[in-house]
Amino acid sequence: MKKLLPAVAAGSLLSLSLMPQKAKADDNFNYVVDRFADIEVLRYKVPDFETLSLNQKLMIYYLGEAAQIGRDIIWDQNCRFNLPVRNLLEAVYTNYKGDKSSKDWKAFEQYMKQVWFGNGIHHHYSTDKFTPGFSQEFLAEQVAALPQGALNLSDYPSVKALTDELFPVIFDPTLLAKRVSQDGSKDVIASSANNLYAPGITQKEVEDYYSKIKDPNDPTPVSYGLNAKIVRDKDGNIKEDVYHLTGLYGEPIAQIIYYLEKAKDYCDNDAQKAYINSLIDYYITGDLKKFDEYSILWAEDTKSDVDFVNGFIESYGDPLGMTASWESYVNFKNKKSSARTETISGNAQWFEDHSPVDPRFRKPNVKGVSAKVITAAMLGGDAFPSTAIGINLPNANWIRAAHGSKSVTLENITEAYALASVGNGFNEEFVIDKPTTKLLDDYLYITDMLHTDLHECLGHASGRLLPGVDPDALKEHGSTLEEARADLFALYYLADPKLLELGILDNPDAYKAEYYKYMLNGLLTQLNRIEPGKDIEEAHMRNRQLIANWILQHGKEDKVVELVKKGGKTYVKINDYRKMRDLIGRLLAEVQRIKSEGDYAAGNKLVNDYGVKVDQKLHSEVLKRFSKLNIPPYRGFVNPVYTLVYDKDGNVTDVAISYDENYVDQMLRLSRDYSTLAK
Ligand code: ZN
Repeated sequence: MKKLLPAVAAGSLLSLSLMPQKAKADDNFNYVVDRFADIEVLRYKVPDFETLSLNQKLMIYYLGEAAQIGRDIIWDQNCRFNLPVRNLLEAVYTNYKGDKSSKDWKAFEQYMKQVWFGNGIHHHYSTDKFTPGFSQEFLAEQVAALPQGALNLSDYPSVKALTDELFPVIFDPTLLAKRVSQDGSKDVIASSANNLYAPGITQKEVEDYYSKIKDPNDPTPVSYGLNAKIVRDKDGNIKEDVYHLTGLYGEPIAQIIYYLEKAKDYCDNDAQKAYINSLIDYYITGDLKKFDEYSILWAEDTKSDVDFVNGFIESYGDPLGMTASWESYVNFKNKKSSARTETISGNAQWFEDHSPVDPRFRKPNVKGVSAKVITAAMLGGDAFPSTAIGINLPNANWIRAAHGSKSVTLENITEAYALASVGNGFNEEFVIDKPTTKLLDDYLYITDMLHTDLHECLGHASGRLLPGVDPDALKEHGSTLEEARADLFALYYLADPKLLELGILDNPDAYKAEYYKYMLNGLLTQLNRIEPGKDIEEAHMRNRQLIANWILQHGKEDKVVELVKKGGKTYVKINDYRKMRDLIGRLLAEVQRIKSEGDYAAGNKLVNDYGVKVDQKLHSEVLKRFSKLNIPPYRGFVNPVYTLVYDKDGNVTDVAISYDENYVDQMLRLSRDYSTLAK
């Protein structure tokens, strides 16, 4: 599970030993790399990379190669036309000789950048198909003008066959309109454009297939469907086409294995070597039992400084939440900041025992929630260019219960977001008054960071299912409700005196900064990410509106939180923060009950009543206010570039890191040097 960045705002400073340190700009590092459509691309620093040992640097280097070489997998998973479309667009982009100030070219360039950012033709977050602002005639002219050999035609008999297939994919808004459809009134498989299910497969067929092979009494079930595309065999029966060395995505997987083998030579210790071996075994066989073996070894290795994720991990791209998209994070431990998360996870049982949920749903023994703060060194696959700020893995419930989980906060990423936001005018426009602005200035960066820690390291790790409850029982609402559970747990404890007692906060009112921001974001400002007339679909956004809206409605009588008008603008006003915390506790108890009992009907009602529908008037007001601010709704990153340094005898003496590469150059380089599927 991952935590995404909710909104934009800046933070502040007050230091106590375990408190997060406010981000501060200490040099002329230029965070903003590119800006287009609704996107801003940043770069992130990798502090202390220089202080690592040569072995650690080399391990990061090779894991970084493994992270980049899998890129084509996510492109192909997102939609079966993404790679040929990318080839076509890049051929035009790099061969264009015409007027670069023309409207069509500008629109083409924006579309190219959007497609790179979305790892395909759909928006990474809304999953809606991008709308090109240039004409089909323009593209046809450019294709006709391409030099011989610029277009790769291995999949098509002729240029005409290629454009006949790809032009509707690019220009017809009704074709492949949405990558992930969550609309429960439709067949969510048939109406999704992703490539996790072959064309013509229905939701019912998939559900029937899995209900036949799942054993409800298996206490240690594999993550069914995690690494497979569902296809129809020649007799018309449903079967899994498994991602592994000799199967689907065999080419990139072979190269990933090659780099994992290289990285293995520089391991910190044997436990790390063991989990890399186990991961390779799984990549070779595609056997999900082996994935569980790997996940257990990985979760239990808490000693290594260098760490990574590389595989089919998160299932947000599948409307049924089963098949995972390929991603990679390479990172190393930030020892100073990890003292804070170690303190939190060291008290995990206390938090579990005092949580406001029915004791039957609590974990009697919280197993090894290991938490650390990390420095991201390379992002890949579905974690790039858009990335999470916190991760908690593995996802399998029984492994988390029996072997624990690893939770991480990506501090250098959070810091880049914060520093790139300084002075953007957000608070002045949306925060109700000066005292609240001061509260946010003083404590939001700190409480945001703690919210991520608590969400990942306690929230997702808390609670348990009743015996016999199917972990997939909440179906298309599973992700939303799981994120809600983790957010509620984090919000509830942010206001707990325990955090002061542990030295993690120094002011009993600090939590109010996060409460205010959460309500503001959930009720108003996150609507900036929604197009006019649309409802909310993405799981994290549904979760945030669900929580904020539920609190607003259930606190109405006591006026706990209000939406008030000032000078024609709507503001969030919180009158009673203590009562707001009580409501958070009540909702946490209910969401945990829904999860523990697998109560789909109640979950469905909760999500639809509070998390989906958008108030049109409020929405257009928010969009109008944002349009004046020039704050991009979405951000992502380019990676730093790592290069091996040799002495005159050809021995590697160091790994150099550079931050110079711009967005376009990085994307073109990846397509050139790391293509494994785009023939
Ligand atoms: Zn989460």
